[in-house]
Amino acid sequence: MKVLVPVKRVIDYNVKVRVKSDESDVDLNNVKMSINPFDEISVEEAVKLKEAGVATEVVVVSCGDKTSQETLRAALAVGADRAILVETEAQLEPLAVAKTLRAIVEKEQPQLVICGKQAIDDDSNQTGQMLAALMGWPQGTFASELKIEADAMLVTREIDGGLETLNLKLPAVVTSDLRLNEPRYASLPNIMKAKRKPLDVIAIDELGVDTSARLKAVRYAAPAERSGGVKVADVAELVEKLRQEARVI
Ligand code: AMP
Repeated sequence: MKVLVPVKRVIDYNVKVRVKSDESDVDLNNVKMSINPFDEISVEEAVKLKEAGVATEVVVVSCGDKTSQETLRAALAVGADRAILVETEAQLEPLAVAKTLRAIVEKEQPQLVICGKQAIDDDSNQTGQMLAALMGWPQGTFASELKIEADAMLVTREIDGGLETLNLKLPAVVTSDLRLNEPRYASLPNIMKAKRKPLDVIAIDELGVDTSARLKAVRYAAPAERSGGVKVADVAELVEKLRQEARVI
């Protein structure tokens, strides 16, 4: 079973995001970038499936500019076998990414695609669902556990009322949630080995996909500063403050 894992290069989750002074975009100058944390979890799950003898090959794919090669190498260093960069200078919307991934899925024919549940830069939470719809494949989103059985898969997912388990027929798309696993760290020898693993670069135009933007960002703004909280001595003081200062009760 071949597993395809789409990975996105995003602002590192520890970085405080700044907006450019002309409010035209987020400022990415000298900002630490990393693999999207949910994609790290997806790569870990795919590598575990390979270690368990269920998956035969783990292919990672990223749509982005040249710098996304670094992200792909990070995925190769924790056990992915091969990487594909679909190179573009454009900032793609989720539908454009999903269409690009469809072209890659048609080429690679994986039995399973594991996306992250969302990319932490735009928090869209759309790409995996759109890819499943475009392929006409079943989808299991927000997975916290995966079990593969013959040609089907059990996906446990977190929903409002608790946990739900879906039985999906393969091929399928899964999106990973935080509790699916704990990603491993790459060892130095594996980082070195990753440099020699295959990384193919495909220009996005070669795929013949319509990646035109449907949205226009008018302006970017930082969220309003929040004033610090206060500690209250007891419930009576809390009720008093809610009544007199916040005026919410
Ligand atoms: P989003 O719908 O933007 O929140 O992204 C959800 C998931 O889609 C991510 O966790 C990735 O697995 C995948 N994805 C989104 N954008 C890209 C991209 N540019 N390249 C590769 N995978 C992506």
